[in-house]
Amino acid sequence: MIIEKYHIFNVMEHLVEDITNEMFSMPNVDMCVCDRCRADVIALALNHLHPKYVVTEKGRIFSELETYTFQMRAEVLTEVLKAMEKVKVRPSHPKEESVYKKVKIDLDDLEKHFDNIQKKKDQK
Ligand SMILES: [Zn+2]
Repeated sequence: MIIEKYHIFNVMEHLVEDITNEMFSMPNVDMCVCDRCRADVIALALNHLHPKYVVTEKGRIFSELETYTFQMRAEVLTEVLKAMEKVKVRPSHPKEESVYKKVKIDLDDLEKHFDNIQKKKDQK
């Protein structure tokens, strides 16, 4: 929303998006990580939080953003986690279309790794 040289924006929106992205980037996230689910989590969490509008001069970065977001972080995190739980149980798309994080450890690699250790032991 822009009124001449002032910009009105919802700090909560930025914070929810940030925290959701943080949560989705964790290696052990155990839900679908597609963009639709991410957007659903953000919308759902925002519906349970009070908006926090601030006014900045157009083109300027709101300097107190960090202070604000630090205070609201715990509350936002709680709502993001609740929203993730809901979207996980009932995604907006068929469950078969879910995109899960690839497990970082490749089992074949792991097997080779242990095989090599075993071989080294055998050589001794
Ligand atoms: Zn999804």
